[in-house]
Amino acid sequence: MTDSTKKGAGGVELVRVSKTFPSGAVGIADVSLSIEPGEFVTFLGPSGSGKTTTLNAIAGFVAPTSGAVIIDGRDVTRLAPNRRDLGMVFQNYALFPHMTVSENVAFGLHKRGFDRATVRSKVAEALEMVRLGEYGTRRPKELSGGQQQRVALARALVYRPPILLMDEPLGALDKQLRDQMQVEIARLHRDLGTTFLFVTHDQGEALALSDRIALFHDGGVVQVGPPQDIYERPRSRFAAEFLGEST
Ligand code: ADP
Repeated sequence: MTDSTKKGAGGVELVRVSKTFPSGAVGIADVSLSIEPGEFVTFLGPSGSGKTTTLNAIAGFVAPTSGAVIIDGRDVTRLAPNRRDLGMVFQNYALFPHMTVSENVAFGLHKRGFDRATVRSKVAEALEMVRLGEYGTRRPKELSGGQQQRVALARALVYRPPILLMDEPLGALDKQLRDQMQVEIARLHRDLGTTFLFVTHDQGEALALSDRIALFHDGGVVQVGPPQDIYERPRSRFAAEFLGEST
């Protein structure tokens, strides 16, 4: 754990959160989940099971139809995304192509009122975290897909958020890079003490990374527990069959 980690921060509580979209489609129904500060929790389940809707409700991109999102004891259900203390990394990591790696990571820091020297040291620290300390002056197109995704991670981590949300962050990478990035993500989680919430439909990824898995099916969480528990003691036919499939 590093000095700048806000000790005790990073807890998330979902209280019977539901989302029905204007089209009438049910995204999630009655999702309750309690996530401890510093935990690595993976939302695992097939496509369309409600993982992203749940993550978006935590991020503030989706306004729940009912229920509450509590972050560190504070009800943030109606709070705008930029007022929540969260970092986010998505599959489509969309770096700015015309900017260097450092400029990409620094983007937004200036506006927050940090002076140049502070921005420089924060960017250097974030690039070190993802082992790209030597790449600050490169452009995104000069980097591999895995390196670009690490820049996206640095861009989120530069704010040292107590909670990092990741939606299929490795989905666009080939198998070998995915394996490497899994190792990096596990190391970052160990080093930072940040709460990691990770969405994937890949059981292998969930098994390798998570303290606990929340298994999604049809808009609900059907089982929550440490990977081994879920694999050894599936509580439903769905869980047994889904976990039995190889990806
Ligand atoms: P997952 O992340 O597990 O693939 P999602 O949370 O994206 O699942 O989707 C859950 C359900 O909500 C799906 O049936 C999906 O079609 C629906 N859904 C998600 N987003 C929207 C939206 N913006 N408008 C209408 N329906 C949506």
